[in-house]
Amino acid sequence: MYSWDDDTSGWLGAARYSYGDAGKDARDEAARRAAVRGPRTYERKAGPNEGMVDPRKRVETTSRNPLVVAVDVTGSMSQWPFEIFDRLPLLYNTLVQYREDLEILFAAIGDAGVDRWPLQVTDFAKGYDLEQQLGALYGEGGGGDAPESYGVFAWWMQHHVRVPNAERPFLIVFGDAPMHEKVPAGQLQKLVGYPPPQAKAKGFTGALLGWNQGDIDAVATWQQVAQTWDTWFLRRPTGRAGDEVDQQWTRALGRERVFRIDDEQRAVDYAMGIVARAWGRLGDFEQNMLARQDEKKVKSVAERIRRDGPRVLACPSCSARIPAEAFGRYACSYCGNTLEL
Ligand SMILES: [Zn+2]
Repeated sequence: MYSWDDDTSGWLGAARYSYGDAGKDARDEAARRAAVRGPRTYERKAGPNEGMVDPRKRVETTSRNPLVVAVDVTGSMSQWPFEIFDRLPLLYNTLVQYREDLEILFAAIGDAGVDRWPLQVTDFAKGYDLEQQLGALYGEGGGGDAPESYGVFAWWMQHHVRVPNAERPFLIVFGDAPMHEKVPAGQLQKLVGYPPPQAKAKGFTGALLGWNQGDIDAVATWQQVAQTWDTWFLRRPTGRAGDEVDQQWTRALGRERVFRIDDEQRAVDYAMGIVARAWGRLGDFEQNMLARQDEKKVKSVAERIRRDGPRVLACPSCSARIPAEAFGRYACSYCGNTLEL
């Protein structure tokens, strides 16, 4: 169990890791509040905190570095809020070193056809407030067979979330299923409020499939979301590479943003690694992982992220172009900032 303080001596790896000075104030504040509250717990409960996770709300953050972590919580995925909760201090404390105004929003996705709470969304929060936000979610564990309501969530992201200061924020989706191709207008109205009138065009695809006026095309909505958000589908190790789940998500996000996880236990590491690489801090993140896991595993995760993770084409500090062959430690020739690629 990771804690909110800077003490990493209980980590299981052979290497040592110390958090850097950046983000220290935020970590200290979280550690202070955690100490007052006592040991961390993730209680079993009968449902979410409905007041906190109601998707009819609109959220906004002025953070330049917001991060959204969405988890399919149907069936086999229902334990995932717990998995993430377990590593929550690690997730925040690690990434806040790289971008100090980091704020995180969590979403739990189910199937609107059969679940009682098919979309739960928190607010953006930082530090110890994340405990309360994440703790409000509920892994319902229902879902029908296969397609889930990822499209309702995409709609919510597109119309209920504002991040006016963010340049290219990250949206990480953990899942293992395809999405319902259309979101019925009535379902959307019930869950998140009535869609605005400009969304009512149904287009050629809709006509072909017999959709009703106002129904939403889920894949097209994800394509819109991905224009603002650097969106990654991290897929649990199920199915075959290139199967229909991969194909549908490829239509939604592009092939390079569908990332098959080979080791479920490392799911949060892959998410952190993808963000760390884009922010030019993969080297530090490797040290972080080495303090928790054996070297072979760290090597395989880092290699995978270098190969299939985000391309770092510009310096995160000054936007100067980075040569394609740059590898490992690289000093930006324009601003001098050292990147770990
Ligand atoms: Zn630079």
